Amino acid sequence: MSCTVLESEEFGGRIFPALTIDNYPGLPGISGADYCEKLRAQAESFGAELKNQTVSSIEYVDNLWQVKTTNNSLYIAPAIIYAAGEKQRLLDIPGETEFIGRGVGFCAACDGALFRNKEVAVIGGGDKALDDALTLSRMCSAVHLIHRREEFRGFAGSVAKVKQTPNITLHLNRIAKSVNGARRVESITLCDTNGDNEEILNISGLFIAVGSVPLTALCAEIAELDEQGYIIATEDCKTSQPGLFAAGDTRQKPLRQLITAAADGAVAGKAAADYVALYKG
Ligand code: NAP
Repeated sequence: MSCTVLESEEFGGRIFPALTIDNYPGLPGISGADYCEKLRAQAESFGAELKNQTVSSIEYVDNLWQVKTTNNSLYIAPAIIYAAGEKQRLLDIPGETEFIGRGVGFCAACDGALFRNKEVAVIGGGDKALDDALTLSRMCSAVHLIHRREEFRGFAGSVAKVKQTPNITLHLNRIAKSVNGARRVESITLCDTNGDNEEILNISGLFIAVGSVPLTALCAEIAELDEQGYIIATEDCKTSQPGLFAAGDTRQKPLRQLITAAADGAVAGKAAADYVALYKG
């Protein structure tokens, strides 16, 4: 069977900027960029055709899927696997969007070096916030990790590493109220979760890691989504539509990690191939 992979950004997705991947079996410590390169080369060696294109619409016409891209390409296939992943969630506080690229960032591995020997903050309590804090602690003079609860949501091993890192300071049960500065970020205002005990923290950079929202707008009219917008699919990655399979972070599931995305890829690939074989008769 022939298979085309459409990707609007880096092949491999959001794992690409990771400095190291510590929880994928068999490849301890591999960088995101190396992992993505191996993934791409392996897929191509099995005949996948990779194209850097952005999908603009997906339609089901005469029992076939029509996928259009922003550069006016059209792909027609009996089956598609939707694996568009997620994008960063925003805090929705004053100054946040205004300072994006001027001190506010979302990728510590990509932008951390801009803040070498400076003081920065990370907001969030999941794996990304923990990973970002650890990444930044290697290059910044001080890292403030701000989380709205006492307990972290992320991997216990990363929590332990964060707690043992001398230049990471935890600010628990605290939220950011605003991002402040003239031309660039100069500080953030923190308070308790009930709005009391305001304090200003002087920082040069702020990394926001408060989770993600699924990139499922293209499927909103064609697949069944849950309340958060994730695609509802069965264990074999089948959606509510014939020939439409969902894999990876875009699918409703209890654990979003590289390993579960890879497992989905195998399951969805097999299910899609079986579907196409039946379709062709
Ligand atoms: P996440 O697990 O959803 O965590 C988001 C964090 O942000 C939570 O701690 C949440 O607080 C906090 N948060 C959400 N909205 C907030 C708001 N408005 N204000 C303040 N804090 C807010 O997201 P993630 O860390 O991006 O991870 C996403 C998925 O990717 C997870 O499944 C994660 O395991 C996976 N991932 C894995 C790795 C790895 O395995 N190394 C690395 C990165 C990501 P609460 O805890 O109070 O809800």
